[in-house]
Amino acid sequence: MKNIQTVLTALLCRALFFLIRCVWFILPPRFIILLGGPGAGKGTLATQLAPALGLAHLSTGDAFRRELAAKTKFAEQVESYIKAGKLVPDDLTLQIVRRELMRLRYWRGAVFDGFPRTRAQAEMLTQLLESWGVKVERVILLEVEEPVLIERLSLRRTCSNKSCGRSYHLKYEPPKEADICDACKSPLYQRSDDVPEVIRERIETYRRESKPLCDYYQGNLVSVKSTLGMTKEEVFAKVKAALLG
Ligand code: AMP
Repeated sequence: MKNIQTVLTALLCRALFFLIRCVWFILPPRFIILLGGPGAGKGTLATQLAPALGLAHLSTGDAFRRELAAKTKFAEQVESYIKAGKLVPDDLTLQIVRRELMRLRYWRGAVFDGFPRTRAQAEMLTQLLESWGVKVERVILLEVEEPVLIERLSLRRTCSNKSCGRSYHLKYEPPKEADICDACKSPLYQRSDDVPEVIRERIETYRRESKPLCDYYQGNLVSVKSTLGMTKEEVFAKVKAALLG
């Protein structure tokens, strides 16, 4: 009985995927990548941009944190990398991304936040999208100077409610009530990788592994400068103008 159910579910998924691909023929899905160092504001931008474009937000960092919270089989394998500010190995990251993209919520496309982060990930994404007959539409690089990244990460506090996940800057965008999220009233916390030693490692990893992706996406990349004190609305307005331009 269980076998029949599994076969039927698999058949149903295939039929659904076929149907979605037929729709894609007329209305292709859109995939947008946000590049930038840790603390550049990719997550904040993605939460504004994705709904504005009618797309889903895919953050690999959030996906990993969900695995950790749910103590899944991946959790053990990824935990040490995240804690040390190192990149999770490509094969694990790619498994997570493939699995995510199979979810129905991505059927119109996605704004990628924190993915790809290495050349191998970028090449895999190109191949996967090619096999679906689509391409990355645009890559947005959020350019932020390193001292600003360090300050933002050290003063960042994040909502502990996973379905909210809002982040605050203690100096420029503090919560109304100390350590409590304005939006959902859950406690705020400091991410374990938002501490000085790990921040340095994450910035170094970005410089070494992810910055070279600007060359990979050359020709399809728009660069937006985000300076200290710029509000998220100002950054969003700049990105929208760059996307339209
Ligand atoms: P983020 O929330 O994007 O700052 O990511 C937090 C951590 O998750 C990173 O420091 C990495 O350890 C891991 N991570 C997120 N995205 C990726 C990725 N695309 N490839 C490898 N590791 C990743």
